Amino acid sequence: MSEKRMFSKTIVLSDAFLDMPMSARCLYFTLSMFGDDDGFVNSPKAIMRQCGASDDDLRVLFGKKFILPFESGVIVIKHWRINNYLRADRYQPTKYLEEKEMLKVDDNGAYTMRTAEEIETAKKEKSVKKLTEKKDRVLKIRTPKVCPICKTKLEDSSGGCKTSWYCMKCSDELTYHNGKWDFWDSKKEKKS
Ligand SMILES: [Zn+2]
Repeated sequence: MSEKRMFSKTIVLSDAFLDMPMSARCLYFTLSMFGDDDGFVNSPKAIMRQCGASDDDLRVLFGKKFILPFESGVIVIKHWRINNYLRADRYQPTKYLEEKEMLKVDDNGAYTMRTAEEIETAKKEKSVKKLTEKKDRVLKIRTPKVCPICKTKLEDSSGGCKTSWYCMKCSDELTYHNGKWDFWDSKKEKKS
């Protein structure tokens, strides 16, 4: 985790920020110092007590949307990405992945809660991506470069999809089926 934390003037000199009681502002700075590299803080209550802030101060920060709460008790600094710029080589991703999945980053760079629908869509997209990656990996491993019969270099006959290959010499096509590469024509012959 990075040693230093930054604060953007746009945020901490805004009217909305300066209108808050000093204790709430102090709590904001303290929470921000404890945030991980994605702005998540896992023990806001303990930090609150440590700096002598009250529940009210935490409530003010929630109310003014300077911090966003999660059911798990973890909170996130809403304008973290506006406040902080971290070098990619020093960045350590947060441990609070479940919470992070509930967030999106708006055009200004502020965290915003995703709607239930958006969370569902993001989850689906992620699982589709995982599946595609897995499929790609399997195909990469299994894709034959030469014909198993005559050792001639095979041509991709699926238009780059790498699902079927053609051997010019055997005049036969290999297809991926049930985890194996099979000759299309010989298979047909076997069946008939
Ligand atoms: Zn062949």
